Amino acid sequence: MDRLTQAIKDHARQAGADLVGIADIARFKDVAPEHNPLSIMPEARSVVVIGRRITRGTLRGVEEGTQMSQYGMYGYDWLDNRFVAITTFRTAEFIEDHRWEAVPLAPLPPQIPPSGIPVRPGSPAPNVMIDLEDAAVRAGLGEIGYCGVFLSPRFGPRQRFQAILTDAELEPDPILAEAICQRCLEPEKLCPLGAIRGDQETTLEICGRKMVVAGIDYGICRTCKNGARPNAYHQAAPPDRLGALCTRTCISQLERAGRLENTFEHPFRKRAPWAAVVKWEYREGELDI
Ligand code: SF4
Repeated sequence: MDRLTQAIKDHARQAGADLVGIADIARFKDVAPEHNPLSIMPEARSVVVIGRRITRGTLRGVEEGTQMSQYGMYGYDWLDNRFVAITTFRTAEFIEDHRWEAVPLAPLPPQIPPSGIPVRPGSPAPNVMIDLEDAAVRAGLGEIGYCGVFLSPRFGPRQRFQAILTDAELEPDPILAEAICQRCLEPEKLCPLGAIRGDQETTLEICGRKMVVAGIDYGICRTCKNGARPNAYHQAAPPDRLGALCTRTCISQLERAGRLENTFEHPFRKRAPWAAVVKWEYREGELDI
């Protein structure tokens, strides 16, 4: 690895990053201008994607059904807007200390519609929004799992991302080759409300990596009382599902299958999960999740 790339990764980790991946800009050539980093920074040569974990304990109160607010702070608002933001900004400062421009990108969802008009012919309307989970796949950090949530080999679904565009030519990381998601459960075992639709599967292809993703009925997820939260940035974006029953079941399954690097002394799921509004009921011992 070249010295600048190594130094940037080391600095990001010292600033709190759990995950750092780099994509060269050529990996975004199939991305529409409305979501393409080159629309924001035409001279960009690299995209540095930075992730920090949602600690497993942050989900404990949600899993037990007794404390939902702590996840909203440590797992969502503060994690995005304080912890990952500071790590990203410190890394951007480091890149600029080495004479390369660094554009920090907050996790604004790509579903946010344009709020202006193009400033010149051929330009997309502002604001261009980058899909950071898509960028994390392009930076080699993981994949999009069957439930439509990003998975890393280290944490499964437990992380949040920000990114930096830079004109520095950095050494890219390889695209993750081995699948994390094993499609271990039927959709109805993942979502008691029927929002995960196996009959609406699509195959995503990002940088040659193919991923089968179920259809997700976000209209149902917006009504979900099982740990989902409204999107913190825009109502047009999907709700946050990282604390929801579907994602917590995914965490439990990946841990039990030994597919995650971040391991624990005790399993995540210790008793039958609660469900606030169900089409079918979990009964102790009936469902092995
Ligand atoms: S967020 Fe709720 S409704 Fe949506 S898939 Fe997950 S458990 Fe089902």
